[in-house]
Amino acid sequence: MRTRLLRTVRGALTLGCALAIAGCAAETPSATDGGTSAATSAPAPSSTTSSPRVTSSPPAKPEPLVVLDPGHNGGNAAAPEQINQQVPAGRGASKACNTTGTETDAGYPEHAFNWDVTNRIAQVLAERGVRAQLTRGSDEGVGPCVDRRAAIGNQSEVAAVVSVHADGSTSPQAHGFHIAYSDPPLNAAQRGPARELAEAMRDGMRDSGLPISDYLGTDGLAPRDDLAGLNLAERPAVLVECGNMRNPQEAAAFSSEQGRQRYAEAIANGILGYLG
Ligand SMILES: [Zn+2]
Repeated sequence: MRTRLLRTVRGALTLGCALAIAGCAAETPSATDGGTSAATSAPAPSSTTSSPRVTSSPPAKPEPLVVLDPGHNGGNAAAPEQINQQVPAGRGASKACNTTGTETDAGYPEHAFNWDVTNRIAQVLAERGVRAQLTRGSDEGVGPCVDRRAAIGNQSEVAAVVSVHADGSTSPQAHGFHIAYSDPPLNAAQRGPARELAEAMRDGMRDSGLPISDYLGTDGLAPRDDLAGLNLAERPAVLVECGNMRNPQEAAAFSSEQGRQRYAEAIANGILGYLG
């Protein structure tokens, strides 16, 4: 199957796998290992060769690396030509490079929520010995495009990729979080680990007291085949929709620092649950 995939890859591959176009999965050995190598690769200490006088501890386990993807960006609305460019979206489709996101009725924008929560998640993870890399460095820029964000998550040492969003359902009663993952799966990382990450995230957020969506998904899980970042993922990846920015109660929570800290801790709980 991999050989067949390789034969279908066209010359565009010379642009490099950094673009995370669909064919790259077939050429990247790490795309098929499906494991969380950063968290599990420490060698077991030998029990037969150690000297009783040597007291050195076994080699330190490398800190797992998680990629956090704050959806959208603060400069997107002012750069329609850039963000409307078509980029590969997986499954043979293309999509706009990026979008502006939604906002609360009072005008608190989703990109600002995503940015703040993601930084708070990184802080919680750091305190627990987990490294985090963000897909954008500020909330004032444009993009990056969805395929570029996916490429950042596709580094071989990445244990998990979590995109952070908030939804904009027009029904003000609709509320609660849901977790999207790629389905049908396109590679080994999507086949099992992504679903496990989605379930761990759902459990972590639910156990933190956040309500599960009453308007999308089933029991907090939403299999999707139309989200570029998930389609292009070669590492376990999910997209968290924290709730509905048009729901008055959730809008109030999203707009407060205390509320955002609560979401950040809940999502970090999900990540830590997955990493074990
Ligand atoms: Zn969004």
